[in-house]
Amino acid sequence: LAKKQGKVLVLTNITQLVTLAGSPGPRRGAALQELNIITDAAVLCSGGKIVAASKQREMLKHPWFKKNKKKIEEFDCGGGVVTPGFVDSHTHLVFAEPRLVDFEKRIAGETYEEIAAAGGGIKSSLAGVRKASKAELASRAEAALYKMLDGGTTTVEAKSGYGLSLESELKSLEAIKAAAKKWPGTLVATLLGAHVVPPEFKDDRAAYVREVTSKMIPQAAKKKLAEYVDVFCERSAFTPEETAKIFAAGRAHGLKLRAHVGQFTPCDLEKLLRHKPDSFDHMDVFRDEDLPRLAKSDTVATLLPAANYFLGHTKYPDARKLISAGVAVALATDYNPGTSPTTSMQFVMSAACTQMKMSPAEVLVASTINGACGLGLGDRKGSIQSGKDADLAVFDIGDYRELPYWIGGNACVGTVANGNLSER
Ligand SMILES: [Zn+2]
Repeated sequence: LAKKQGKVLVLTNITQLVTLAGSPGPRRGAALQELNIITDAAVLCSGGKIVAASKQREMLKHPWFKKNKKKIEEFDCGGGVVTPGFVDSHTHLVFAEPRLVDFEKRIAGETYEEIAAAGGGIKSSLAGVRKASKAELASRAEAALYKMLDGGTTTVEAKSGYGLSLESELKSLEAIKAAAKKWPGTLVATLLGAHVVPPEFKDDRAAYVREVTSKMIPQAAKKKLAEYVDVFCERSAFTPEETAKIFAAGRAHGLKLRAHVGQFTPCDLEKLLRHKPDSFDHMDVFRDEDLPRLAKSDTVATLLPAANYFLGHTKYPDARKLISAGVAVALATDYNPGTSPTTSMQFVMSAACTQMKMSPAEVLVASTINGACGLGLGDRKGSIQSGKDADLAVFDIGDYRELPYWIGGNACVGTVANGNLSER
């Protein structure tokens, strides 16, 4: 990506400007289909914010535009589609190596849980992260962030979780902070010390939970290294009771909450909803009786179909059931070395259409404003409206439905992240 710094920027010649203009809260039900498209449009950005989004001919008459014409940098979108920059609200950004042995074992027929029980899975990523320097982890994270930007993603949630010791979890969070400084988009850091119980605590789970609640959380909060605490609530990881304890500690230290739930086995969501998490992630399996309460809450269900794809599952999260129940649904990559080695939100959107029967409009809303809401950023990100952050993605297509239609490629030709233009 060639980077240009432009203080004042106008994007012109846009066939469809998909604004998603509306309320800052998560979209549900029929509202998941409302795109608010402006045809033959232009967007004006200044100081990292959107100043105006309108028909191009109206933009040219905008008094601000007329007055500042000489100092405005123009990006001609060539008749393409412009959307809000994607919000990838679930990534395991910091790791050291791909997990190729697990990949081959799974192809040969072993399941995720069998591989994990035999010492593969998350545990096999620990050694690499523990011995890597902060600079090495940061440079890997930065490379992934630029690939994400290249595909239209301008906001990324990034978790630690492959260190699982106080020192290496803090090092992972510091690596996220270092990578964020070198990237024009917005990064939200999450402490996932409770990813699995590490081998050295296998005979004393309670002691590891205490390590998370009384050391990792307080230190990450005090050093301002994380905004969120996450827990992998699953049969092979942490129980709902342990998750609730970790949530309480996170809240006590001013951190916001999110959890991996229902990837393999259903979880009692009611117990966790009391703590008002911003997101429940995966939701491959859930108890129907939890849906009415979830629908009434502001908690977003973040679905991660690239993980189902990569694990070779034929079952995907039941998005239709969640949407009918009124649950706010988001989509994210789950970028990680074990179960979802992709940075592509375009691939995720396609998988959600073909495997989960979400419409092209729904997947776009789920990948932008609803992802932003799942990160507490609904008032700043996820739609193209005056006053919001200037986060945009430009695609070389004539209709937004082509985004999930063309598989395995990348239609993104430019991004604007906090007002900074990058061209491919
Ligand atoms: Zn995850």
